[in-house]
Amino acid sequence: MNFIKNLKPVHLALGIICLLFMLLVVSLIIKTIKVSDFIIKTENKTFDIRQTLLVNNKAKKPNKDIVIVTVDDASYEYLTTKYGEWPLPRNIYADLIHFMEKQSPNAIAFDLMFVSSLKSGVDADNKLATAMSTYDNVYTGMNFDNMSYDVREPMVLPGRLQITVNNKSKVDFQDLTFTNCRPILSQIINSNTKIGMLNILRSSDGVIREFPAVVKYQNSFYPNLAFLLALEHQAEIDNRSYNAIDMDKDANIVLKDKKIPVNIDGGLILNWYGHSHGETYEHIPLYKLIKLMNGEKIKEKYDLSNKIILIGTTATGLADIKSIPIGSFGETYPGVEMYATFINNFLDNNFIKKAEPFTNILITLFLAGIISVVVLLVNSTIISVTAAIFIALGYIILTYFVMWFGNLWIDIVIPVAAIVFSFLVAYIVKYIIKSRDFEHQYKLATTDGLTQLYNHRYFQEQMQMQIANASRYGNEFSLIIVDIDHFKKFNDTYGHQAGDAVLRQVAQTLKMNTRMTDIVCRYGGEEMSIILTNTDRQEAIMNAKRMCNEVAKKMFKLNATDTTHVTISLGVSTFPQDGETSQQLVEVADQGLYYAKEHGRNQVGLAEFNDNPPDGTL
Ligand code: GH3
Ligand code: MG
Ligand code: MG
Repeated sequence: MNFIKNLKPVHLALGIICLLFMLLVVSLIIKTIKVSDFIIKTENKTFDIRQTLLVNNKAKKPNKDIVIVTVDDASYEYLTTKYGEWPLPRNIYADLIHFMEKQSPNAIAFDLMFVSSLKSGVDADNKLATAMSTYDNVYTGMNFDNMSYDVREPMVLPGRLQITVNNKSKVDFQDLTFTNCRPILSQIINSNTKIGMLNILRSSDGVIREFPAVVKYQNSFYPNLAFLLALEHQAEIDNRSYNAIDMDKDANIVLKDKKIPVNIDGGLILNWYGHSHGETYEHIPLYKLIKLMNGEKIKEKYDLSNKIILIGTTATGLADIKSIPIGSFGETYPGVEMYATFINNFLDNNFIKKAEPFTNILITLFLAGIISVVVLLVNSTIISVTAAIFIALGYIILTYFVMWFGNLWIDIVIPVAAIVFSFLVAYIVKYIIKSRDFEHQYKLATTDGLTQLYNHRYFQEQMQMQIANASRYGNEFSLIIVDIDHFKKFNDTYGHQAGDAVLRQVAQTLKMNTRMTDIVCRYGGEEMSIILTNTDRQEAIMNAKRMCNEVAKKMFKLNATDTTHVTISLGVSTFPQDGETSQQLVEVADQGLYYAKEHGRNQVGLAEFNDNPPDGTL
C-alpha cells in the first residue's frame, strides 16, 4: 500500500487516463453488441445454461392444468391402420371435440392446421367446422409465410381474427411481418373466431428461445394460438375483453394486473419447464382418447375437466420438432410443447425480461470499477487474481438467481469480459505506477539532497562494483577526491547558505566536466569523489587538471548580489596499481589531496609526491 501514499499527480493522471481509455473501449464493445453476432450467440448460450440449470434443479413447476393430447408414434400407427389414411378424416376430430367437451375442459386447442388443400370430403369438413363453432372454447391454427403471390393468392382474413395493438414501444415487428398465409378450410375461417397463428421465432443459431405473441399480416396484427387462448382466459378473470392490447413505452403488454415484457424483436422470451414426453405436462396419446370415444376399454383414466387441452403432433415421423434452450445436448420440443410452455408462462406470469442495455452497461462499469479498485489496492497478485475470479463467479451465480427469482436476463458475456479486461488494464496501470515509484525511491536512496550528486552509500557500492568488474576484465579505473579550498571561510564570511550555494555550484561544475560514464558523488562535507570508469592514471590526472581549471575560472554566486572565485584541490588514485580495495584507493587519493593542500592548493596531487616531489606543480 506504500506506493499509494507516494502517488504523485502525474501517476494519478496516468491511472485515470488508462481507466478512461478502458471505459471507452468497454463502452465501444457494448455499442457494437448489436452487430457482434459472436457476443449475441455466446450470451444466448449463457441463457441456455441458466435455463437448463433451473430446469434440472426443478426451480419451476409445470402447471398441472395443461394437458397435451399427443399424436405420438403409437397413435400415428394405430390410427392409420384403423382409418386407412393420414391425416385423419376430419369427422373424427369433430367426434373427438364432442367427446372431450362432455368433460367440460377449459379449452381445446389444435396445434394442427386444417388446410383447404388437404380436403377430407365436404361432409367431414363441415362436421368439423360445426363442431368447432358449437363450443366457445375450441381453438385452431393458421400459419403466415412469405410465399410469392404467383404460387398462392394471399387470403383476406375476417376482421374478427385480428387483434388491435396500441404500440407505444420501439418494437417494430419487422421480423414478424408476413405477406402470405396458408389457406385454412373456408368453413372454419368463416364460422370460428378462435384461430391463432402458429408462427415461431428462431434465434440466429436456430434455437427457439422466444415466441411471438402477435405477428403482422396485411397491416393487421394476429395473435398466436397460445396467446389467443391465454388472453381469453385472462379476459374471463379480468371480466373484460382483450380485442385490443396496449404495449407501453417499455415494451410491456399491459393487461389488467399483468405486465408481459416483449423483447426488442417482438418475441416473448420463454421460461422453460422441463424435458418433453411426460416430464412436463400430462401427455395423453390421441389413440387412447379415440379408443375411449369408441367405447373401448383402456387401463388409464383421464380427467379433462377444467383442463387446457392442447392437441399436437409429437410423432417423429411427422417432424414438428424444434431446438430449445434446455438440455445439455440440444434438446428438442415438438411444437405443441412450446404452445403449452407459452400458456404456462402466461398463467404464471413469468416470461423472461431481458435487462435494458443501460442496466447492463451500469453493471459492466460497476464490475470494472470494483476490479480496478481491488487490483490497485491489493498488493498481492494472487489475492487480486483470486478476488477477480470470485467476483466473476459471484456475478455469474447472481445472474442465475436473478433469472430464477426475478425472471430477468442480465448479461454475462460483456460484464465478465469487462472484469477480465479491467483486471488487465488495472494491473498494467498498477505496474507502471509501481515501477515509477520504485525508480523514485531508488533515486531518493542514492542521491544527495543538497548537491544532487550520488551519495556516499552509492559511491561505496559503485567502488565495489568497479573493483569487481575491473578485476574480472583486467581493466583500470581511477578515483579523484575533490576538496574545496578554504571552504570554512565562505561559511564564516557569508553564512552557511552561501556555503551551500557554492557547494551546489561546484558539484554541478564537476558534473558538467565529466563523461556520462563517470560517477560523481558527494563523499561527505565539501568533499566529492569521482569514479572514472575504464580510465588510467594519465587520463585521470588530465581530467582532474581540467576540472581544477574549470572551477578556478568560474565565478560562483554566493547570494543574489555577491560572487566569488573558488578553487579546489584534487587527489588521484588508480586501480589496480594504487590499491585493490576501496579503502586503499581512497587513502591513496587522500594522500594526493594532502600533497595538493600542502603545496598551495588549487592543484592536483599524487600520493608519491609526498616522498618524491615533482619539479613545480603537475
Ligand atoms: P582546506 O582548504 O584546508 O580544505 O580548508 P577548509 O576550510 O575547506 O577546511 P576543511 O576542508 O577541513 O573544512 C571543511 C568545512 O566545510 C567545514 C564545514 O564548515 C564546511 N562544510 C562541510 N560541509 C558543508 C556543507 O554541507 N555546507 C556548508 N555550508 N559547509 C560545509
Ligand atoms: Mg574538507
Ligand atoms: Mg576544504
